[in-house]
Amino acid sequence: MHAQDPSAQSLIDLGKRYWLPVYRPRDVVLDHGKGARVWDTQGRDYVDFGAGIAVNALGHQDPDLLEALTTQAHKLWHTSNVFYSEPPLRLAEELVSASGFAERVFLCNSGTEANEAAIKLVRKWASSQGRAADKRVIVTFRGSFHGRTLAAVTATAQPKYQEGYEPLPGGFRYLDFNDVPALEAAFAQGDVAAVMLEPVQGEGGVLPAAPGFVQRVRELCDQYNALLVLDEIQSGMGRTGTLFAYVQDGAKPDIVTLAKALGCGFPIGAMLAGPKVAEVMQFGAHGTTFGGNPLAAAVARVALRKLSSPELLANVARQSQALRDGLARINASLSLFDEVRGRGLMLGAVLNEANKGKAGTILDHAAAHGLLVLQAGPDVLRFVPALNISDEDLAEGLSRLEAALRGFAEG
Ligand SMILES: *Cc1c(COP(=O)(O)O)cnc(C)c1O
Repeated sequence: MHAQDPSAQSLIDLGKRYWLPVYRPRDVVLDHGKGARVWDTQGRDYVDFGAGIAVNALGHQDPDLLEALTTQAHKLWHTSNVFYSEPPLRLAEELVSASGFAERVFLCNSGTEANEAAIKLVRKWASSQGRAADKRVIVTFRGSFHGRTLAAVTATAQPKYQEGYEPLPGGFRYLDFNDVPALEAAFAQGDVAAVMLEPVQGEGGVLPAAPGFVQRVRELCDQYNALLVLDEIQSGMGRTGTLFAYVQDGAKPDIVTLAKALGCGFPIGAMLAGPKVAEVMQFGAHGTTFGGNPLAAAVARVALRKLSSPELLANVARQSQALRDGLARINASLSLFDEVRGRGLMLGAVLNEANKGKAGTILDHAAAHGLLVLQAGPDVLRFVPALNISDEDLAEGLSRLEAALRGFAEG
């Protein structure tokens, strides 16, 4: 859009020439960041309302994360899982204690891998219960996003992610999100081993579970001896105002997956396993070379400590209200949204009929006005800033958003 700088353009050309063209990034080459701001190679600054897709939950260059990373970098980078090192051992203990339900943790490198582990754990559990292979169905919901490996993309109940990758693994059933009667009917078929869901659907449009829905899923899982798997890869780590979103739903899961903000930008994922499943996978049942990498674990320990602090969570509540107020104010004059939904600092502005499908265009306007923001599908603007964002940065982001939306509305 505005990469007039020849060196930025030549970098972008490398991506267009050499990357597998599965992404369509905006024409901005980012260079460095600090807090909730980033700068491109031309020195232009942006307020970052996207946080690398809900990843940089402590902003850029958080001093405590930097310290953890550099200290560990001078000690030991990698051991593999055939030897112990301290950071992943401590991290596992700290995740178990923060979760309030888990007994064991499997560390990996991404959200998809955490979900892949969860799917395999469900199947292993069902098999250990003596269930036939056709009685191990995992129910997921339309609009969900669970990742891109074959099993995770099959769990992802959105055809656009699956098309062309058939044959997909079997044993998944898709229902409408928040549809209790459909869920009851699915369970009545007698073959459901697990229900997997996001407490707030992220990629699918920032759509929260309806009040009482997760609790009802839990009841049905208990009644039919099935597992509740919560994908908190986007909603977890303080994003919705509590360390885990499920606390607000009042339901205890059997398995929770984490990634994104767990490493605040350093790649790491985790699967947390509760009492029903913690002993199901034994020696040799699963594995990873990099998972539990000491660098990643050292960073995640600090991320976990900071993201669960009362001050941080109070800031999420405060900035959530400020963002909602700001969006309402902008909408009062521009009338672009039908509603703003979500929880904490995971908010979606749903474009109204006249502006449906225009999220991508709005993002171009935003970048041109010095604001990085995300979409969740073509119809929803997604706001997932750093959880420690300041009043000033939030206000500046809103004012740039207003200017961008005004430019968009004026065509
Ligand atoms: C991002 C995301 C994933 C996939 O995580 P990756 O790290 O990209 O593999 C899975 N589930 C949810 C809810 C996500 O938001």
